[in-house]
Amino acid sequence: MTADPIQVIADLFAGDGARDYLGEPVTQASHMLQAAALAQASGAPPPLVAAALLHDVGHFTSVISGHDLMRGTDNRHSAAGADWLAQWFGDEVTEPVRLHVAAKRYLCAVEPGYFAALSPASVYTLGVQGGPMDVAERAEFEAHPQAAAALRLRRWDDAAKDPAASPPAFGYHKPLLRSLLRRPAPGSFHDRGRFSAQ
Ligand code: FE
Repeated sequence: MTADPIQVIADLFAGDGARDYLGEPVTQASHMLQAAALAQASGAPPPLVAAALLHDVGHFTSVISGHDLMRGTDNRHSAAGADWLAQWFGDEVTEPVRLHVAAKRYLCAVEPGYFAALSPASVYTLGVQGGPMDVAERAEFEAHPQAAAALRLRRWDDAAKDPAASPPAFGYHKPLLRSLLRRPAPGSFHDRGRFSAQ
């Protein structure tokens, strides 16, 4: 029997998520819960609140064991997280996650003062991630349907590092996540079962 996706994710927050968020004064779980709370306070639509909540699951290396997150560029954590989430959620959740590192590189290129406000850890990873975008990369980023959503997510990501914050716990978001789970595609195992009696 397939595990309940919401429980799989809940276990992440309770397990690996309790670890330090490297170089930041909060745990990974607290960081993502803070990002979700900021998204909700901003009136973000449910898929974007979910994206904020889940944006760093790519850092949970024990889950995404097939991806060597520590080798190569840190862009892998956004792509690995988005790919993992795509087994359950649609583009409005997965693509802002995929683009949240690109959004940082974009903002460093276009917004005076953005770089100066980054945390020391985020400045460090910027170099690994490819640095500020060049003109061609910016045009490619801007053309993505989820670029605006990714930029909003990036603001919450940057702000979600407050050691004194006490955001709602993971359980608070379960109904929202459950409402966003994709239905089985037509022709899938579940769908065939529904029609087999005819
Ligand atoms: Fe983050």
